[in-house]
Amino acid sequence: MTTTAQEITARLHDDGSRLATDDGRHIEDMLADAGADRETSPAEYDLIRYTLPDGSVLTVRAGAGWDLGYAGCWCWQGAGHDEECAGGRWHPSAAAAAEIGASEDPAATAIAICETAPMRGGWRS
Ligand SMILES: [Zn+2]
Repeated sequence: MTTTAQEITARLHDDGSRLATDDGRHIEDMLADAGADRETSPAEYDLIRYTLPDGSVLTVRAGAGWDLGYAGCWCWQGAGHDEECAGGRWHPSAAAAAEIGASEDPAATAIAICETAPMRGGWRS
C-alpha cells in the first residue's frame, strides 16, 4: 500500500534534498493540499512534522530537506531513531500483540515485528 507521504515523496523523485516537483510544486504546498497536520518541533524551530490523514508522516527541515518520519518523535526514517530518542515507542496492534504474547520469545518477536512490519502497530510518544 502506498501512503500519502510516499505519493508526495515519489513526486520529488524520493530525493530528500528536493523541495519542489519538476513543475514547481513545493512540498509544503502539497502537504497542505493533502490535509496534513503541521507541528513544529519544540526543540528545533525549523523541524516540522506533517502527519497526513492516513497516518503517514513526513518530517521536513525547513528549506533544507525532508524524510519519511515517525508519528512519535522527530527522527528521520532514513537515519533511524537517534540514540537519545525516547519519543518513539512502538505499540503493537491487537493482532500483533496476541502474536507476540503467544510466541516463545515475546521480546524478540516484538522487535522482529517492529522492525519488519511496523505498520502492524503505531509509533507514539
Ligand atoms: Zn526517534
